[in-house]
Amino acid sequence: MIRLENVAFSYGNKRIFTDFSLELADGAHLALMGPSGCGKSTLLRLISGLITPQSGRIAGLPQDGVAYVFQESRLLPQLTARENVELVLKSIENRQKLAEEILTELGLGDELDTLPSELSGGMARRVAMARALAFPSPLLVLDEAFTGLDERTRGIVADCVLRRLDGRTLVMSTHSGVEAELLGCEILRLAPLH
Ligand code: ADP
Ligand code: MG
Repeated sequence: MIRLENVAFSYGNKRIFTDFSLELADGAHLALMGPSGCGKSTLLRLISGLITPQSGRIAGLPQDGVAYVFQESRLLPQLTARENVELVLKSIENRQKLAEEILTELGLGDELDTLPSELSGGMARRVAMARALAFPSPLLVLDEAFTGLDERTRGIVADCVLRRLDGRTLVMSTHSGVEAELLGCEILRLAPLH
């Protein structure tokens, strides 16, 4: 269980959260929704331990890293699709096979040796998704990860996420109720900042 208690977080003097609490049971599926700028990405970073609150407590953070798809795909440009995935699997046996399997499930079987600069935005997204799905963390975070995918591809990716999630906790941000539903998420609406 990840627990945020009375968390306050500001960037400089811009307050994003003042007294925010949340309990996230192991294996929960949660979708954060709300207008751009309301703090979805900030909350994902807090839940993952990438940033720490100025006050309040966060307990139960995964110790060995979080599987994270950032709002930008953040692939290493000099590495091919498969190398980008394998990179996070250093200590895992059969990492080549695993990377190939997940990329293929995501419809990238023909792009295993393609560099990010030669992939479309939607393909790069799926490589980032494959990298996160392959990483053995109890928490998977998807920050607007389905943006730019057509409906059919979105369905394929959602199926792959659900298959590969294997009881892990999922927290995502999205502007789409359909995506939240596809992934079986409870929805948490964040109010706009003012
Ligand atoms: P969302 O993901 O819902 O669009 P964010 O969490 O990215 O919202 O941002 C919440 C607010 O915090 C926005 O007003 C944004 O401009 C601001 N913000 C985000 N990141 C930073 C940062 N690194 N430094 C300063 N302000 C930031
Ligand atoms: Mg965001």
